[in-house]
Amino acid sequence: MKRRGNIYIVSAPSGAGKSTLCRELLKSYPDITYSISHTTRSPREGEKDGVDYHFVSRKAFEERIEKNMMAEWAEVHGNYYGTSIETLKESAAKGVDVLLDIDVQGAKQLCEKMPECITVFIMPPSMEELLARLEKRGTDTPETISRRMQNAQGEMAESGFYQHVIVNDDLKAAVASFESVVANCRGLEGGK
Ligand code: ADP
Ligand code: 5GP
Repeated sequence: MKRRGNIYIVSAPSGAGKSTLCRELLKSYPDITYSISHTTRSPREGEKDGVDYHFVSRKAFEERIEKNMMAEWAEVHGNYYGTSIETLKESAAKGVDVLLDIDVQGAKQLCEKMPECITVFIMPPSMEELLARLEKRGTDTPETISRRMQNAQGEMAESGFYQHVIVNDDLKAAVASFESVVANCRGLEGGK
């Protein structure tokens, strides 16, 4: 029988280091597919359409919602973000594992439909360090940073919903914890 791929959902307040950790995890596990979300936010410098996100207009996103094309979607920091049903169907058809970098609202929607999802929350070591990382990244305006900091408290309050919580203080240690979540899930499958 064909293997049923695992679905890993990762959430974190913006700046906690989720993208960095996902990149590192995918280096160790190149067979995991990264789910490319749709978003109405503008691309950051260096981001590519179809690689980091599918960048679409609000009108196009709203059409996708109306046509029931989204497995989950949410409005985050003033923009729409969502995972298309097609993306999940493609990885399910291949039987591969898929990694979703989505917010708490999206995680709850998907877990309701697919309780087998494996959920991971990335915590920053402190609010001061979160702010320092957002500023150091240098990709967001002061207004965007302040909005993301305001939202962070609410997002962190939802960490109890997740099966695994990783504090991203020392990067190497956090990557190792993330890798061990995947290794343990695969170990539980037995012989894959
Ligand atoms: P997110 O995807 O959660 O918004 P990023 O992965 O873009 O966050 O990380 C935000 C910033 O913090 C980046 O500049 C990144 O290099 C840095 N960073 C990530 N993890 C760590 C860490 N453990 N220690 C110090 N800086 C980190
Ligand atoms: P960013 O703008 O920093 O790339 O992402 C902002 C937030 O949107 C992050 O919390 C990220 O996890 C979330 N996000 C990205 N893609 C999706 C998605 O497809 N669905 C949902 N619900 N959230 C997403």
